[in-house]
Amino acid sequence: DVKANGRSGLRLCHAELKRGYLARQTLAADLEHALRREELGLAFQPILALETLETRGFEALLRWHHPERGAISPAEFIPIAEETRLILPIGRWVIDEACRVAAEWPEEIGIAVNLSARQFADPLLLPGITTSLRRHGVAAGRLTLEITESALIRDDGAARAMLDEMRALGMRTALDDFGTGYASLSYLTRFPFDVIKIDQSFVRGSGPRSNDATIIETICDLARRLDLVIVAEGVETEEQLAMLRAAGCDKGQGYLFDRPLGEAASAARLAAERLKATRTALHASASDQR
Ligand code: C2E
Ligand code: MG
Ligand code: MG
Ligand code: MG
Repeated sequence: DVKANGRSGLRLCHAELKRGYLARQTLAADLEHALRREELGLAFQPILALETLETRGFEALLRWHHPERGAISPAEFIPIAEETRLILPIGRWVIDEACRVAAEWPEEIGIAVNLSARQFADPLLLPGITTSLRRHGVAAGRLTLEITESALIRDDGAARAMLDEMRALGMRTALDDFGTGYASLSYLTRFPFDVIKIDQSFVRGSGPRSNDATIIETICDLARRLDLVIVAEGVETEEQLAMLRAAGCDKGQGYLFDRPLGEAASAARLAAERLKATRTALHASASDQR
């Protein structure tokens, strides 16, 4: 009967909650050892200039290879790392590892790193970044720090001071997942960003003459007026690329160009691109002499 169903429904719900809670607890306990057991790694997704399709930099994306569960998505474990404050040691490792790998690339290639809200509020964040840049000999100007709106919500003054300090040290600041939060537009003028990253949800729905394409055109127009560099996330098709170019979007990343790559593959991509550029230049000068 209805009543009994309702009851068992409630019990089921409670059991599910409990299971979910226990799973999270287990994951949190595993995450505590993940760094030491070297289960964490970075993948590097190329960010290209949309005009020329040259690689301008890479975004470092955290990967967790769990011994039993295999690959676990950062969308699942970053929130746990935030709650448990494990994001602080993990975040320090991410920055140092990103600098180590970036040191192997040519100097004009940038590296973008994601920061979570708790890292962004950590007074030891900037000394840590500066140490890593020095240790690996990476210029501060190559580093872009990506943060989402959630890091800005807590304390206006402190957030602005942090962004100012990053820029004073020569680093770039990017507002990630732009358009998905509550107050995105006002954040552009209230906080000192160099870059905005258009969230992939807009790019995904951006067929010819769609509402999302209109939104992207408007964001690009606004960004140009505010002197911001625009990066589009999640570019998967030629149609999306054409629309983004027409809108005047500066850079993009997505499966159309490349997936997040391992360290060796990222270096190989840069080497292949250089070789191609050299060949093209040689060919051009040969035909000039003809
Ligand atoms: P994000 O910073 O917005 O990163 C972009 C996400 O989009 C990445 O997911 C990337 O793999 C994915 N992506 C790239 N191109 C495409 C595409 O063409 N199509 C689709 N559907 N997806 C694409 P990933 O690696 O799973 O990371 C998810 C989120 O986890 C990141 O979103 C970022 O917020 C967070 N994250 C990743 N690494 C770190 C880290 O080191 N620290 C912190 N605090 N957060 C991180
Ligand atoms: Mg990002
Ligand atoms: Mg994003
Ligand atoms: Mg995202």
